[in-house]
Amino acid sequence: MDRRETLKAFTGGAVGAATLGAATLAASREAFAQAAATAPEPAAAARGRARAGGVPALKITDIKVFNTKVAGTNMINVKVYTSEPGLYGIGCGTHAERPTIVADTVEQYLKPFLIGRNADEIEKIWQQLWIAPYWRGSVDANNAMAAVDGALWDIMGKRCGVPVYDLLGGKVRSGLRMLGDIQARTPQAMDDQIRKMMADGYDHFRIYLAGGGEGGDGGGAARPAVERSAGGGSIGRTASGEIVTDVHGNDAEYIKRLCDAFEYIRKNISWDIEIGHDVHERPTARGAVMLAKAVEQYRPFFMEDLFAPEDVGWYKTVREESSIGIAMGELFVNQSEWLPLVTNRYIDFMRMHISAAGGLNLARKVAHTCEFFDVQTAWHGPANVSPVGHAVNLHVDLSIYNFGICEGRGFSEQLQELYPGCPEVRKGIRYSNDKPGLGIDLDEKVALKYPPGGGAIGSERGAQDPEGAPRRP
Ligand code: MG
Repeated sequence: MDRRETLKAFTGGAVGAATLGAATLAASREAFAQAAATAPEPAAAARGRARAGGVPALKITDIKVFNTKVAGTNMINVKVYTSEPGLYGIGCGTHAERPTIVADTVEQYLKPFLIGRNADEIEKIWQQLWIAPYWRGSVDANNAMAAVDGALWDIMGKRCGVPVYDLLGGKVRSGLRMLGDIQARTPQAMDDQIRKMMADGYDHFRIYLAGGGEGGDGGGAARPAVERSAGGGSIGRTASGEIVTDVHGNDAEYIKRLCDAFEYIRKNISWDIEIGHDVHERPTARGAVMLAKAVEQYRPFFMEDLFAPEDVGWYKTVREESSIGIAMGELFVNQSEWLPLVTNRYIDFMRMHISAAGGLNLARKVAHTCEFFDVQTAWHGPANVSPVGHAVNLHVDLSIYNFGICEGRGFSEQLQELYPGCPEVRKGIRYSNDKPGLGIDLDEKVALKYPPGGGAIGSERGAQDPEGAPRRP
């Protein structure tokens, strides 16, 4: 008996309900509720019919969390196991600063909810996990659901025998153009690094003004003591990794130093390369507007995080005052933050950290929305994204029209041993290995070499000015 027939039987047909007394009606309602609870949902019934050809329902049977610390970075990965022996998927939910909260969220809330569910209900599960905590937009809840979501896409790809990019519509391009990061204290050091990377195929560069991790996004970067910059200011990191720079509150010096660097590149290296910079919210809001106008003459394609997420109202002014390329978004966790910037065409590059925002299932929707407003993707991809997360970025970018630039590097031997199947970089282009699913795994025996980092102490962020006052990183 299908759902419609079941309900018809309980209501006595089209006219039955109208002729029933109150007691009978209550009994009928109870029977209706029971029937609705036990009858297959239409979508499930349709899937059942589709599987009549031989593909069985696939259930989630277990979920394991892997909390490791590799090269100074806390990583969170999740494996989702299924009722098909040997078939599992892997995802990334790395919140390097607060890894144990993500791990606990998966273990205590997601795992009991998901065991027994159909592994191919990716969209439905995503929507349920999004509203499950009632309050949305928590970076930890987002990372937890992203880890599971990535694993479900991985399972679907493996089950179908195709890479995830094929599930997303197929390859639009063979590989991803990479962003070359340049960290230099002197023009000569910058010159050497840029020419070396140009010889290796790179033509898009992001310039950092000082050496030793200034402006970097942590996650295993060198963390020297605070050091004096060439300009006489102190720029660097404290022992616990905080960015400390005296250009906070000194917009004029910051603008001059960046203009000097851009001018050097344009005069001495080339106008045929693209250059950009990660502002990392250093200047005052008004200083950021001055900075945008001052560097416009050097044609930067990519000025990242001119403002903190709290100050995005200033982007309208920058757009009206200059034609620089604007990149923003690594701290976004909720659509109310990014959607107005996209639909008003205030940004050119979407920098979302995919797991922090909710995972692959969300990223594909973000990317397609951005396409309609000429916004390209430049997903956040430094060392505090696990190689599994980089694989997620890769599969989305390979399958969309509006890919912009790929942040990331080649993977160390350590990471390649822990994560077999890391994406490859050749001549400034990142490639997929074209294996089914995400094409990457986590070796559980190797993972034993990298126990959890013992909490987030020392990993937390928080820039300071020279007087010790907090500044937004
Ligand atoms: Mg950044």
